[in-house]
Amino acid sequence: MLIAGNLKSYLTSQDDVFTLAKQASKLARLGKHEVLLAPSFVHAGMLANKKHDFLLGAQDVSVAGPGAHTGDISAEVLKDAGVEYVIVGHSERRALGESNDIVAGKAVRTLEQGLKVILAFGESVRDEDGMYLSYIQEQILSVLTRVERRYQSHIILAYEPIWAIGEKATGVITPHDLEEMALFIRKIITETFDASLAKKIKVLYGGSVNADNAKELQVRGVDGFLLGRASSTPESLEALYKVL
Ligand code: 13P
Repeated sequence: MLIAGNLKSYLTSQDDVFTLAKQASKLARLGKHEVLLAPSFVHAGMLANKKHDFLLGAQDVSVAGPGAHTGDISAEVLKDAGVEYVIVGHSERRALGESNDIVAGKAVRTLEQGLKVILAFGESVRDEDGMYLSYIQEQILSVLTRVERRYQSHIILAYEPIWAIGEKATGVITPHDLEEMALFIRKIITETFDASLAKKIKVLYGGSVNADNAKELQVRGVDGFLLGRASSTPESLEALYKVL
């Protein structure tokens, strides 16, 4: 499985980041699961300069290339720094106004630099008529249809229903609903592209995953987890790794 930590803005000291990174490297070396950490940009640059055995990610990227874009971090900069994966489309960024079009632009730029993309998507509520399924389909296809065929399998799909994320989460997904969602995601890909791509693309789940619920969420079709809070301390990261 892939255990990916989105550290959001949780860690503010370099010492804490180094301690967590040491734990992530130790777990990655055990070899049972892949471990990825996506810290802040500053901390990603810092970790890239040290030997590490986990995969290094960033939490966002500029939709623009190098140039007059104050405050932006381009895919070129991330690549040069040693980042290998970039999360795009996280709901906390979409909430700031990021459209599917911008998310697709970010994904395309990132992939063209040879980096991998973790595309986050998910509905804010589940309506009884199943409208949320078309919403999810649009989020996925607006990116995959913009990406050249040779890069499509470099995208990891991270299903993160907004209602299950963070301290304000109103619930955690059930194993049954998660398995159905993984199937639905692969069905969309098979119908739009083909079964071989659907098989190749990894699907992650994110939203209040922790050591207490991860085992039961390890269902068919789910290749790993995108963690928030549970990845932010060495203890909770280790506990989660060990239950899987
Ligand atoms: P939590 O695990 O804290 O709910 O966050 C999930 C998430 O948003 C990962 O990207």
